[in-house]
Amino acid sequence: MDLSAIGNDVERIIVTEEDLQAKIKELAARIDSDYADQDLLLVGVLKGAVMAMADLARALQRHVEMDWMAVSSYGSGTKSSGVVRILKDLDRDITGREVLIVEDIVDSGLTLSWLKSNLESRGAKRVQILAVLRKPDAAKVEVPVEYVGFEIPSDFVVGYGLDFNEKYRNLPFVGVLAKHIYS
Ligand code: 5GP
Repeated sequence: MDLSAIGNDVERIIVTEEDLQAKIKELAARIDSDYADQDLLLVGVLKGAVMAMADLARALQRHVEMDWMAVSSYGSGTKSSGVVRILKDLDRDITGREVLIVEDIVDSGLTLSWLKSNLESRGAKRVQILAVLRKPDAAKVEVPVEYVGFEIPSDFVVGYGLDFNEKYRNLPFVGVLAKHIYS
């Protein structure tokens, strides 16, 4: 879906489709090299990471397994609650596995911090994190993100998997949602 299909719902584009695609390829090359000769399980966080997972997995020049988790985050509002609930769990045991969490965005870091400890407590060999976007104020909880796509301002953004009330996920770019949509 292009910008022309959504009128003035998006105030401004902050990461273009071209920049997203180039960055995912760059991160994939780093991952290929960092995980050479090791098995790798990508864990995508539904639903926001669907686009990043699909692009990342195809850019990797190696075998990877993919699994998915769904956790509650914002609900239908625009503020993080910090309350994390598993809505869909992994399909397999991750004992001894190299796990790379693929996430759309780190805001407060509460969700990822919780998810990382949760996966570590199941006996994963190592749990690292890739986030396409990171907000600068993301410091309520210190969470190490090994692979970051773009540092963005604190505005509420949509596109490339990120939604507002389940809409806008299928925009190929990331843009700031116009205030008139949610205020
Ligand atoms: P955190 O726990 O880091 O505050 O929030 C992480 C989750 O909140 C993300 O996975 C995402 O679902 C949601 N989120 C945070 N910032 C935004 C945003 O700007 N736009 C959208 N659509 N979701 C966001």
